[in-house]
Amino acid sequence: MYPNWILQRAYLTPFRKALTFKKQSWTFQELNDESIKRARQLVTLGIQQGDRIAIMGPSKPELVIMMYACMHLQCEMVMLNRRLSQDELAYQLEDSEAVAVLVADEDVEKLPTETTYHLFSAIEKGAEGAVDIVKEWPLHQTTTIMYTSGTTGFPKGVRQTVGNHQASATASVLNIGLQAQDVWLCAVPLFHISGFSILVRSLLYGNQIFLYEQFDVESIAQNIMDGDVTHMSVVAVTLERILHTLEQRNARASSYFKLMLAGGGPVPVDYLARAHALNLAVAQTYGMTETSSQTATLASEDAMRKIGSAGKPLFFNQIMIAEPNAKGEGEICIRGPHVTPGYIGRFAQKNATKAGWLHTGDIGYVDEEGYLFVIDRRADLIISGGENIYPAEIENVLLTHPAVKEAGVCGMPDEQWGQVPIAFIVLNEQVSVEQLKAFCLQKLAKYKVPKEMIITDSLPRNGADKLLRRKLLQ
Ligand code: ATP
Ligand code: MG
Repeated sequence: MYPNWILQRAYLTPFRKALTFKKQSWTFQELNDESIKRARQLVTLGIQQGDRIAIMGPSKPELVIMMYACMHLQCEMVMLNRRLSQDELAYQLEDSEAVAVLVADEDVEKLPTETTYHLFSAIEKGAEGAVDIVKEWPLHQTTTIMYTSGTTGFPKGVRQTVGNHQASATASVLNIGLQAQDVWLCAVPLFHISGFSILVRSLLYGNQIFLYEQFDVESIAQNIMDGDVTHMSVVAVTLERILHTLEQRNARASSYFKLMLAGGGPVPVDYLARAHALNLAVAQTYGMTETSSQTATLASEDAMRKIGSAGKPLFFNQIMIAEPNAKGEGEICIRGPHVTPGYIGRFAQKNATKAGWLHTGDIGYVDEEGYLFVIDRRADLIISGGENIYPAEIENVLLTHPAVKEAGVCGMPDEQWGQVPIAFIVLNEQVSVEQLKAFCLQKLAKYKVPKEMIITDSLPRNGADKLLRRKLLQ
């Protein structure tokens, strides 16, 4: 058994700042008191200990308190992504069989029409029932159920247990370190493991979270320049916007700022070099919903020497490459206490692991020093005339061209070669397709240079802002 994180943290450091949102702050004691009150209010609505509850709301303190209330009740929280369409949400509500839906007032319109729900405002005004807050949690208890992004197919509902989250948070801090006075800026969604893991680390280490409802690049860049925050989680797109803002302002990161944790997908090499020039330490990390956040992370001091690598596995984890080819490239497999025990709903019968190993569907290799390089998703591999072509490699080259803002590459059927690569490009400034092809020819073997380049206004992305290569050609 392990302590109820919220009670334990409030007991250890009651008066320390836990959360800041806009100009308002909460201590750990206040978060604990408010979330216990909310738990009592939930009980009067008929919600029982251990129930599976869906939650949706913007990244605000109300959501944090609602989640902590559910945690006090040991509920399994299905974290709904508020960027999804009604149909996608209906799929997750049905698949998860959540017995109740808790929704922030401003998000109620997003729910499928038939849904019955409890509004945050109604819960907050409700009567308080009696509840016995459990002081200890078992490791196998499911804390959260998060759906994968659905990049390769249907989103899968992943169980993330107390043990998974604890192992992940502990391994993270053994790797990057965290001090009591550190402040983690959270502008990634709390319904995603990137955001939720910031909450878990805050509860386990007692450090403060600086919460943003939206990615406000001007204000965030200012926080980084002023040293208001020490850490931040980003994905490639948001990192680029911060870099761009700092470059435009001719500014650098404050010496108080310690680290950007960049995950969710590959970070173009060009961004890492630009971050280095701005004094911004970036740790590239590889993780997924099934591993409750990071599996491998590249120390920022290795960022340039091992450019493009996702680093080494964190302390408790192991990485293995299954069925490697002659170059050592194969499917990345992961083992460790942070790996999910399994899926729910339509994927409940799918084994998450084989002989203890999670098969990720990602292709990569481990170099002679033990650093992981994630190459691409197996499902997106293009085979052209017997040669393997990875879309990410071509996208990375295109993104180093100053006129290219976004690039997506996929395979197109071809009589002669089976498949050939084709690129969809969003531009920053005018450039001709011939110039882009010539640029690619300097950096890529001829068979990798996209046969066609289509200039477009935007690329298809999912609710996590990830490029959907399978939709490029549609
Ligand atoms: P689905 O499983 O439904 O197709 P998804 O895999 O995109 O969706 P997530 O769990 O949100 O859902 O994302 C994890 C995936 O993101 C990884 O399997 C990997 O493909 C990609 N990814 C994460 N970090 C990195 C990285 N550092 N480099 C390359 N790819 C990464
Ligand atoms: Mg996946």
